[in-house]
Amino acid sequence: MSTYAGNLLRIDLSSKTAKVEKIPLIYCQNFISARGLGARYLYDELRAGIDPLSGENKLLLLIGVLGGTEAQGFSKWVVMSKSPLTGTIMRSFTGGNFGVWMKFAGYDLIIIEGRAEKPSYLYIDERGVQFLGADEILGLDARNVQLELKKKHGPKTESACIGLAGEKLVRYAVITSGERTASRGGMGAVMGSKNLKAIAINVPVRKPIPSDETKFKELVKQQIRILKNHPRRKKMNTIGTPYITTGLNKAGILPVRNFREGSIHGIEELTGDEFYKLKIKKTGCYGCMTRCGGIREVATGPLRGTQIDGPEYETIYAFGPLLGITDRSFIIDANALCDYYGIDTISAGVSIAFACELFEKRIISISEADGLDLSWGNKETIFSLIEKIGKREGIGYLLGKGVKRAAEHMGGEAGSYAMHIKGLELPGYEPRAVKGYALSMATSNIGGSHMYGRPRDELIGKVDPLTEEGKGESIARVQKEQAVDDSVISCTFGNSGLDMEFLSEYLLAATGIKEFSSVANLLEIGERIICLERCFNVREGFTRKDDTLPERMLHEPLQNAGPATNQVVKKLDKLLDEYYKAFGYTKEGIPTSKTLKRLGLGMFEDNITIVKGKLAEEKSWA
Ligand code: SF4
Repeated sequence: MSTYAGNLLRIDLSSKTAKVEKIPLIYCQNFISARGLGARYLYDELRAGIDPLSGENKLLLLIGVLGGTEAQGFSKWVVMSKSPLTGTIMRSFTGGNFGVWMKFAGYDLIIIEGRAEKPSYLYIDERGVQFLGADEILGLDARNVQLELKKKHGPKTESACIGLAGEKLVRYAVITSGERTASRGGMGAVMGSKNLKAIAINVPVRKPIPSDETKFKELVKQQIRILKNHPRRKKMNTIGTPYITTGLNKAGILPVRNFREGSIHGIEELTGDEFYKLKIKKTGCYGCMTRCGGIREVATGPLRGTQIDGPEYETIYAFGPLLGITDRSFIIDANALCDYYGIDTISAGVSIAFACELFEKRIISISEADGLDLSWGNKETIFSLIEKIGKREGIGYLLGKGVKRAAEHMGGEAGSYAMHIKGLELPGYEPRAVKGYALSMATSNIGGSHMYGRPRDELIGKVDPLTEEGKGESIARVQKEQAVDDSVISCTFGNSGLDMEFLSEYLLAATGIKEFSSVANLLEIGERIICLERCFNVREGFTRKDDTLPERMLHEPLQNAGPATNQVVKKLDKLLDEYYKAFGYTKEGIPTSKTLKRLGLGMFEDNITIVKGKLAEEKSWA
């Protein structure tokens, strides 16, 4: 008995075959589940240098070991692949029910390989996998795809699908399930490149049975008691992620007009309380009493009258202050339009802000912008740009490739205004105002993500956010903890009051695996996962030069940012040295042989050595 399903389902779209394989216990002991297992399989199965949008890439869907149990806030799921946006390993988390239905169907992991000859979708039920033509759902948005699949296969069908942007291979297209999206890194484009419109599952509910049922039940009761009275859970349950907007603005952390400023006049329009007033009802993922989501109605724009789950803080940032806007209704409407096409709101907002700054600096003209006036805050233009990106038309064709590729295409100064790390557009945290977070984003193996290691102490002011000293080690620790959370999957928004000791007890009771019984072991697993992800990237040619920030953060003093005004990130090199040392990497950011062996990854040394050999300047700390 264990809360693992114990199996993976391998689906080859080219040959229309599917088979079930056992997941080796040693993989679970060493990588837990979800992000960790995904890193293990992607490293093993993807040849270096493949085109992420080719049939050689693989799309992995994973649910965590506690998913589908009574434990609260563990039923999100994750999509992993090589990213068409960054060329790195990528993982993109999402909520809804789909992941849990994977577990009920008997799988911890689904690996999708190859490429279907014609647009297709997969239907999984008790009889197995069916490969079906997608003509009837092609061109539909995610909401309608899911409705059609429920009509056809029954109301209990749960599905994950792409919208028009995924079909068109927009490099930051999302995968949608229910009202939630796996947003980051273009997982929807990978699915689209496989000619796969949707995956639908309809199986009976089969609750996983913990190894120690009595202990597990006790822990669930204890967790529910903690959550009931936890102030953060109460805030998330009522206001949701928008509750952080005001605090970030005050601290100069809220990026404004393409990261030139750190706070915006008129923030009172964007407070959590104001967004709360527009909330029609609460939503949430399977098995989560935090229920942080909120349904709101679209008031204007092309989707007027429809309802969406959102906006989350990241969308408020990307379609609000980042574009010089403080209009709540507009942000909801822009969110709905991005969801309709199936594009990541962060990457879309940052791409549009990039275009606005280029327009202001006269690097692009009105005719190059398809006749659109790209002045800051022009809402009609922004709606048009979202549509053009979603349809891959006109200037939207270029912006849909992400700011890194768009800037490379334009050449000249354009790169100075492209706000990304390793090709992933930056989230809503100004790196110059939170120096540890800056390092965490710079070193993230998936590029500019706010979820690769979130220094909560810095964000709440417990640690001085402007100091750079000593942050290398603390960020290494935060990233390891995040890797554990992501591999369980413990939702960052739903795990209020849950520390690593509690997590360890949960894992032991759920699985009986003794390796999970100590926090030190769990942190080593976190380190192993990060190291393997780094090995994946090193094999693709990523090194220290890629662990960096946009030039603006290093040289241009931040404006209008309260306590963070005039800040730059001064000592990124020193921070990187500290960080690499804490992880046991070389000065080039490459895991040393000693580190690989210590983490039980010695078998991958040859791969890494080849890359190291190419680096004449490579030096080891060891
Ligand atoms: S806190 Fe929110 S995102 Fe996290 S599991 Fe609960 S409902 Fe889903």
